[in-house]
This record gives sequence, C-alpha cells and structure tokens, in this order.
Amino acid sequence: MVGNGAREFDLVVIGSGPGGYVAAIRASQLGMSVACVESEKLGGVCLNIGCIPTKSLLTSARMVAEVRDAGKHGIATGEVTVDLAPAQTRSRQVSDQMNRGVTHLFRKNRVSHVTGHGRLAGPGRVEVERDGVTSALRAPHIIVATGSRPNSLPFLPIDGRDIWSSDEALYVTEAPGTLAIIGAGAIGMEFADIFEAYGTQVTILEALDRVLPVEDEDVSAHIAKSYRRRGMRIETGVRLTAAEATGKGMALSYRDAEGEAHSLVVDRVLSAVGRIPNTEDVGLGAAGVSLSEGGYIEIDEWMRTNVGGVYAIGDCAGGPLLAHKATHEGIVCVEKIAGVTHRSVDYGNIPNCTYCHPEVASVGLTEAEAKARGYEVETGSFPWIGNGRAVAYGDVDGFVKIVRDRTYSEILGAHIIGPHATELIAEFVLARHLESTVEEVETAMHPHPTLSEAIGEGALAALGRPIHI
Ligand code: NAD
Repeated sequence: MVGNGAREFDLVVIGSGPGGYVAAIRASQLGMSVACVESEKLGGVCLNIGCIPTKSLLTSARMVAEVRDAGKHGIATGEVTVDLAPAQTRSRQVSDQMNRGVTHLFRKNRVSHVTGHGRLAGPGRVEVERDGVTSALRAPHIIVATGSRPNSLPFLPIDGRDIWSSDEALYVTEAPGTLAIIGAGAIGMEFADIFEAYGTQVTILEALDRVLPVEDEDVSAHIAKSYRRRGMRIETGVRLTAAEATGKGMALSYRDAEGEAHSLVVDRVLSAVGRIPNTEDVGLGAAGVSLSEGGYIEIDEWMRTNVGGVYAIGDCAGGPLLAHKATHEGIVCVEKIAGVTHRSVDYGNIPNCTYCHPEVASVGLTEAEAKARGYEVETGSFPWIGNGRAVAYGDVDGFVKIVRDRTYSEILGAHIIGPHATELIAEFVLARHLESTVEEVETAMHPHPTLSEAIGEGALAALGRPIHI
C-alpha cells in the first residue's frame, strides 16, 4: 500500500479473458508485478459463456449423431432420446474446470486477482469498485482487455425469455420446439447445430446472401447444403422488418431476397448479429483514449493507445473478435513493454474456426478476395471421400480447398470443411507463418492413413495433380 491507499504494481490488466489473463501471466514471467482486475469469473466470455461451453455442447451434439449411427458399428442402443439438461450441466462443469485452471495459473505466477469493476482514473491509476466500495491501484502500464458483448437489433431486444443472445442460449436446459436464429455467423451456425441435434426445428435468417459470409463461397454453399439435408431451414438475403411477442413465443416478419413478405412464428429467437465492445464504463473518455466509430479502442501495432502507458488488447480493441487474436495481442503487448520483442502479431494469418458439423476452418484469403486483389489465382479442392481415414470415420462431408498464387505458389488461402477442420487448419497457419509454398506442403510427408493426408492432397489439387480423385 502506498500513497492514498493505492496498491502499486508494474502492470494492471483490466479484464481476465484470453487476452487479459494471458497478458498478466506473461508479464509475470517477465518479472513484472501484476494485478488483473475482473468483476466476473476469471477467464472472461471465452471460458465462461463463449468458446469453451459451446464446444462442450457441440461435442454433445456430435455425439447425438454418432449414437444414432451406432447400429452400423454393432452397438445396439434402442431408441435414442435426447435431453439438453445434462449436456448443459456438463458444459457448466467444463467451464468451471477451465475457470479453476486460471485461478491456479494466477496463483502459480503470483498474479494478484483484484475482484471488482476496473476503470481508468487518471495517469497510471485504476479504480476498482466492488459492492459500492472503491479501491485504487497504481501502475505505469495499464492494459484494457474488457472484451465485448452481444449486439442486438433495435426491434429485437434481448429479453432472456423469448429472445436470447448466446449468453442466454448457453443456459437453456430445454430445447425449444422451434427456434429462429437471426444471423448465420459463427454463433448462429454453432447454436443451430446444437439445438437441431437436441430436437429443435431450426430456421436461420441471414441478411447477407450466404451463411458464414466471411468464409470462401464454396464453403458457405457446402455448409448450407449440409444443414438443409439435416432438415434446417435457411433463408439468406433476408430483411427482418418486425418482431412481436405472441405470449407463447415470437412472430417475425421479414422480406426474402426477392422482396416478398413472410411471417414466421417460433417458440424462441436467438439473436446472433455480432458483438459490440465493452468500452463505455472503463474511464476511457476521461482518460482521453481515442475510440473508433464502432466504439473500439484505437491501438498501434504494439497495442498502445494514444495515451501513454495505456494499452488495449482483444475484442475491445477491434476485430476479428477471436480469442486467439486477443491472446497474441496480450503477449506481444507485454513483451514490447518488457523490451523483449520486435515482432508484432501476424495479423494476416489469423485462423477462423466454426465448430459446427461439418466443422469449418480457414486462414488467409478466399478465392474471391484473392482475385479481387489481382493475384493470378489457381485453386484446388480435395473432397474427403478420397481420404481413407475420413471414410473409416464415416465422416466425408466436405473438402480441403487451397487458393494459390500461380507466380510464386504462395498459399494465399486455405479452407477446410469437414472432420477436425479446426485442428487441421493449424498446418496451413504454420505453413503460411513460415512462408512455405504449396509445393512444400505437398512434399512434407503426411502419415497414412490420417486426415492430414487431405492437406497434402489439397496442395496437389491446387497444383493440378491430385492422386486420389
Ligand atoms: P458475426 O458478425 O460473425 O455474424 C453475424 C451475422 O449476422 C452476419 O452474417 C450478419 O450478416 C448477420 N446479421 C446482422 N444483422 C442481421 C439482421 N438484421 N438480420 C439477419 N442477419 C443479420 O457475429 P456472431 O456470429 O454473432 O459472432 C460475434 C463475434 O464472435 C464474431 O466476430 C465471431 O467471429 C466471434 N465468434 C467466433 C466464434 C468462433 O470462432 N467459433 C464463435 C462465436 C463467436
């Protein structure tokens, strides 16, 4: 305790998501004394109401399909019934375990966890409010890592009863009979997978002309086909015009891509139309920290804001709103403060992963983006049906697509839809990070029989000489 009761540290991090907690640990490893201020559970949205609990539910959803297929493996199950409640209990247990893990890591690394709501309060100063009592922390370096929260449409305010955001959907223990999902980004598509598996009739309404619009067009088309085969309804190019509570659920009005008016009555609505940064109540205005138009904190390549000693990382500092991007920003930020790095985040090489089934993962440019940038583009796709391990798994829905530059054979983009896509994409991330050519991916030996062989075959396909198709 020094001065007017303020505790002193080398670094104070506000927020303990995958950006904040990792930054705090790395800073401690580098010899700094660190406090991490958190008002909720450690781990942020990712561990508690985001990445981790949804992956638990998606694992459950996948098992539903596998158990239904069990007869082919000589496993008699009788009639398969599903109940979302135990899957939600398990999902909470998984989150809690990860949350305890962060508590353990903080102890091990001597990071002080300060419970309460943190705000910048003048140069080198953070105020922490807890149950109406305010305490002060001082540090020459302050990292704002306050994350983001679900956005909502003006006429579709999230009420937690009829209209959910992902926050509410993660606690639902009874799958509704019918569900409209507004928005076909990662959140919409992942929850569609979960609820459909647990018996809900799902309708997806997307404003743009395709689902997963950030992905390659071939991937969007394939996942839409796959979802429709499962019985989900997908409407794209939709303009939602009104939403009314019926007493038993919601009545939605929308116009389709041709401008024709439709109405849809459902038990519940999941709003998955993006997220907004938590930058309002952090003392940024008073501290003079510049925000962009969307309310994100403006930073340079070392995560420095325009105010000396104040840094920002993760969702609150702009997109893509992904945990791994936040983590890398946190590490680079503290390593730069400590003077041990001269290399910023590899922003051109951030993988995108959607953990629905089939899984979707990509890195780099889509075919359309590569063409728009003027590359001389060559593409190749390798379908899973040509991979022995995928056939043995019984999971051949999708393909590996590579977008390459014909001149230097640079891997401009890689797109995988299918089994373990979110794991396999890492090979392309590493290849691009090391500036490998498509030929180098192909000549690196992939073990047989594995799913990874499809990476090598995808490379061969992009070179116009696949073996197994
Ligand atoms: P998103 O921005 O990825 O997708 C939102 C979708 O909603 C878009 O396709 C958009 O066109 C559509 N939309 C917007 N307004 C609409 C309207 N009025 N009617 C119909 N459709 C409308 O956002 P998200 O899926 O909500 O996810 C939020 C953020 O969290 C994203 O940045 C995402 O990358 C991230 N996230 C990532 C993962 C993952 O990596 N697996 C999972 C969840 C969330």
